[in-house]
Amino acid sequence: MKPLIVANWKMNPSTLAEAKRLFNSVAKGIKNIGRTEVVICPPFVWFSNLLASKPYTLNPKLGAQDCFWVESGAYTGEISPIMLKNLGCKYVIIGHSERRKLGETDEMINKKIKAALETKLKPILCVGETEEERSDGKTFEVLTRQLERSLNYLSNKSFRNLIIAYEPVWAIGSGNPCGISEAKAVNLFIRKIVKNLPILYGGSVNSQNAESYIKEAKFQGFIVGGASLNPQEFIRIVKSVVKT
Ligand code: PEP
Repeated sequence: MKPLIVANWKMNPSTLAEAKRLFNSVAKGIKNIGRTEVVICPPFVWFSNLLASKPYTLNPKLGAQDCFWVESGAYTGEISPIMLKNLGCKYVIIGHSERRKLGETDEMINKKIKAALETKLKPILCVGETEEERSDGKTFEVLTRQLERSLNYLSNKSFRNLIIAYEPVWAIGSGNPCGISEAKAVNLFIRKIVKNLPILYGGSVNSQNAESYIKEAKFQGFIVGGASLNPQEFIRIVKSVVKT
């Protein structure tokens, strides 16, 4: 599998003009890169516009930051997997810690993963421990629980399109990335549970540390939050991986 680099723009930027500028700068900077799959996950409101103006076919692809588990109906404010699919979206982040903080449970995440897989989207399931859980020595226990509950009742066949992202909550947006040997140990632990699925790392990735998560800690790519809002830095991250 090609390395997968996912840009999570979160709730940024605040105008369509800025979103287009950011998207086009990144697209231009990576247009000849074929050995890496780059996915940009903008806020839903900019989605159609960016897709319509997508200048290159290879990279970047578009992904969503979340989705609901029902196809249509009386669910104010929600976006369904089929809506995303019909727009041309390929990937969807599910269970990001910032959504878990707002009350999303493993059971809700499980329904979202199932719905996304049934719609032939590629869900990126985020798991990770908080600072407190880490200092209590509960990292593996938390990851096991999150993975088991989120993947409950999924058939082995449907696993094919699933991607896991290890995102330690304490490393997200903190400028304090997980050390390479710790990340590698967690990667190996997750691999024992999910076998052949791609596993990404997320948490304060930048152009200085990106390469090591692939080369040394053996991840298949990453989710980039803050650094994906700076097009030059994001392009450097993508290029650092192409070298590996
Ligand atoms: C994220 O939001 O998934 C993330 C990894 O953020 P950051 O890169 O800013 O830590």
